Amino acid sequence: MKFDEYKIADEIKRNIENSGFKKPTDIQYKCIPSILAGEDVLAVAQTGTGKTAAFAIPLIELIDRQKKNKRSSGIKCIVMCPTRELAKQTGGVFAKLAKHTNLVSFALYGGIEQERQAAKIQKGIDVLTATPGRMFDLISQGIIDVSNVRFFVLDEADKMLKLGFYEDLVYIKKLLKQRHQTMFFSATIDEEIKKLAYSQVKGDAIRIQISPKDPVSRNVKHGVLFLKQEEKRFYLLDFIVENPQAKIICFARTKLRVERIKKFLEKNNVSCTIFHSGLAQDEREKSLCDFHENRCPILIATDISARGIDIANVSNVINYDLPEIAENYVHRIGRTGRGDKKGEAISFCCKEEEGLLKAIENYTGYEINRVEINEETVQKAKIGAENENKSLQEMILNEEAAAAAMRKKRRK
Ligand code: ADP
Ligand code: MG
Repeated sequence: MKFDEYKIADEIKRNIENSGFKKPTDIQYKCIPSILAGEDVLAVAQTGTGKTAAFAIPLIELIDRQKKNKRSSGIKCIVMCPTRELAKQTGGVFAKLAKHTNLVSFALYGGIEQERQAAKIQKGIDVLTATPGRMFDLISQGIIDVSNVRFFVLDEADKMLKLGFYEDLVYIKKLLKQRHQTMFFSATIDEEIKKLAYSQVKGDAIRIQISPKDPVSRNVKHGVLFLKQEEKRFYLLDFIVENPQAKIICFARTKLRVERIKKFLEKNNVSCTIFHSGLAQDEREKSLCDFHENRCPILIATDISARGIDIANVSNVINYDLPEIAENYVHRIGRTGRGDKKGEAISFCCKEEEGLLKAIENYTGYEINRVEINEETVQKAKIGAENENKSLQEMILNEEAAAAAMRKKRRK
């Protein structure tokens, strides 16, 4: 199958070609005809397999047709996304694939002032890619009118429904006056969420599930490494130093841990960029941009960037801490091995995390490959951790000595 064989406008075909897509991926092959035919779709396919274009291509075609046939105003399509960066990225995919058509797309998200966003929406847009918070704000202010929406997509659908978005979804679907098409996309979905999703689509919705056995992208080679908590940072440092060409996303459990890793790396003359929800929106954008454009090839992040983010040529994912939600493992390591690229992922697992590893293995359905590390690295990490302990002890001793000296002085 080639993109050429689809009944879609020549402009769109040209945009597909200019994006470097030679033939549809499996999920695109299955979704494009169904969406073009007006079906509701529930699609599950591994990370990095082109789900965005799987809905964007047919939707652009349908909206473009509608616009060519009659003058129509108002938002026609809403794509809901769990994070600001994903809303922006998805808006970018629509813009790229809709070049030279009349379709206008716009990404809407919080963290920045709303006036300019409102003005843009009121000028007229066709496709809105949005995070829920800001979108509902603007609906309640009467700035967004959803009465002309005919296409409704939930990307990262399981995450969105888990966010407690279900009620909002029901609410918004009630507001849509037109007969509409509903589409859910994700790389992971469990039975409970599937039921919720089914309740929101037509009875004859098309269900597409690609490679359900192994949710991990087949382009990603992944393994786990056992070590002590206090050795993790030295393994990370060693990995970075030994792999100077690597473009790495390293996931840690909390914002604080992300900041600590950054400090440690900088102390060791390794610069990195960071991403977590405690940063201001302009800082978040700068961080991702620096990483994207290779000004800084090391990104330390929390799970907020685990889903959907598509950055070219990420060669390695490191789970500095194991994720507490098993499916996040699949999403995190899915930041590498995207499209036709290959990638590698390694997870650090200390004693306290063995339960989490079990949960992840239950989820993937198989034991994750155990990785051996060379003796030299083991020794370096051990010595590093011991020295740090030592210097910590020295610091405490010095502080105690200073305090004792002060007390003595005061007594005199
Ligand atoms: P997913 O949502 O399934 O995780 P994305 O939609 O983000 O994946 O796409 C992953 C990458 O694959 C993107 O960089 C995208 O440009 C690329 N891609 C999408 N469709 C194709 C295709 N048909 N051929 C080659 N690359 C593609
Ligand atoms: Mg995606």
